[in-house]
Amino acid sequence: MLMPGVAQKGGLWTGLGVVELGGYWPVLAPRTIRLYTYEQIPWHLKGNPYITDGYRAFLPSRLCIKSLWVMSNDSGNIWSHLLGFCLFLGFAVYDGIFVLPSVQASLNDHIIHGLFLFCFQVCMLFSTGFHLFCAHRSERVVRRWLSIDHAGIAFGMLGCFLPAIYFGFYCHPFWHRVYLLMVLGFTGAIFVLTLHPSFHSPLGSRLPPSSPMALFVSLGLVGLVLAAHWVILSGGLEAPIVQEFLPRLAVMYIMAGLALLLFSCKFPECYFPGWLNVVGSSHQCWHLIVVLMFSWWHQAVLCFIRSFAPFGCHGPHPSDHPA
Ligand SMILES: [Zn+2]
Repeated sequence: MLMPGVAQKGGLWTGLGVVELGGYWPVLAPRTIRLYTYEQIPWHLKGNPYITDGYRAFLPSRLCIKSLWVMSNDSGNIWSHLLGFCLFLGFAVYDGIFVLPSVQASLNDHIIHGLFLFCFQVCMLFSTGFHLFCAHRSERVVRRWLSIDHAGIAFGMLGCFLPAIYFGFYCHPFWHRVYLLMVLGFTGAIFVLTLHPSFHSPLGSRLPPSSPMALFVSLGLVGLVLAAHWVILSGGLEAPIVQEFLPRLAVMYIMAGLALLLFSCKFPECYFPGWLNVVGSSHQCWHLIVVLMFSWWHQAVLCFIRSFAPFGCHGPHPSDHPA
């Protein structure tokens, strides 16, 4: 077994003498980057014993970046959010040029639309960065990137809230401002907590530390309270606008709950240890669901914009417009 202390002091090549590599991985890996089994990685990278092989570790920054092209158990995680970043960047450009002008969106509409997609892009990029650099030979660097990854989740949540509050309370300026300030304060607190060294989590868990994690969940619950208030202000469950948008919100919450459940339970790999090292692990499912969820929310926001931008609060009902 490789002693983490030895490898960290001497780097990858010093450690080679005591590393016994996993059987089939070197065939897939380029010569400069080797892959390790679960037993061979340092303790701070451990956390999911059901992923038994295909770990990158002990790499300098340059090789971390180069490992983008190496098939490892993090490839799915890296590429899903790197492509997710490209997707949301593409949405921002396309909507800004074609969709928003076609519905006479105001400057504020443009700003909110740009901001929420920017938050999604930041979330995707921070996650990509973490999964690239979690193989870094310095535990301190890995820990820092983990915090950045968690801060990215706060950005993602802010991206969901911004358009929901802006368009949901479009006709209620008081609540509009109160809720925007509240959510900005909440996400700001999460941001500070995730980046502050005193709140760094044990790396093995790969989960946000308890305080920010509690804030993530609390912020999700705050969203439900805001949704309930929006339903009341809009005229109750029978109101056409509620029937139009409430199911979209429900689907998003179901997706978020499912992603969190799979991630926390390490399902499905807990039933197939070693079989889902490359494709199909819970973390990859989590990444994929997050991209789908953000895309779903982007469509819902476009529907909101089409409903309100041309007519304001006294225009036709949203269902009069194509989604
Ligand atoms: Zn991840």
